[in-house]
Amino acid sequence: MKALVYNGARDVVVKDVPDARIERPTDVLVHVTTTNICGSDLHMYEGRTDLVPGRVLGHENLGEVVEVGSAVDRIKVGDMVCIPFNISCGHCKNCETGLTAFCLTLNPDAAGAAYGFAGMGPYDGGQAELLRVPYGDFNCLRRHRRSRHLPAPGPRRPRRDGQEGRDPLRHGPVLVQGPEDRHRSGQRQSLQSAAAQPYPRRSRHAVVRRLTRVAA
Ligand SMILES: [Zn+2]
Ligand SMILES: [Zn+2]
Repeated sequence: MKALVYNGARDVVVKDVPDARIERPTDVLVHVTTTNICGSDLHMYEGRTDLVPGRVLGHENLGEVVEVGSAVDRIKVGDMVCIPFNISCGHCKNCETGLTAFCLTLNPDAAGAAYGFAGMGPYDGGQAELLRVPYGDFNCLRRHRRSRHLPAPGPRRPRRDGQEGRDPLRHGPVLVQGPEDRHRSGQRQSLQSAAAQPYPRRSRHAVVRRLTRVAA
């Protein structure tokens, strides 16, 4: 598969690497449809960490499930899933109290594991065609079926006020997800640009109304 591989400081390259695969019965294999370059990737890219060369970057990923391990029963092949940054087991003391960012079982060196990130365990990231998701039943958030039809944002173009902005999204819902501040800022952007209808779930609408009030 193609993947973005870290070679060293300021040296990353897209190249062919062995396909990610199911390694344990609880794994899920995801074909990555959307990923990003996070500001946090700069810690590795600019050489401020001890990330081992050869690691695939990318810790914010969406995709379609293409294979599940024999012990996976909630997530199915064909599901569209969002995969949070942190990898968590779901059953250790910290995970059971909601501190899933500090899972005690998945990182041999410290509490907390993540994809393609220095100091957070031996896991490749999703700036690749395939991503192995440990404990897939716990770590995959299933997305709405319509989300597979989300259009990509339009190209940048000058606005009438002279500033640069994106074309509004003309079709489909907008899925805003992430920590609360990102929910809020993303939702405000969506509403301000008349982008589209937010994620079409009633519960989501209620959250959006509350966050919009908070943000106003
Ligand atoms: Zn990030
Ligand atoms: Zn855990």
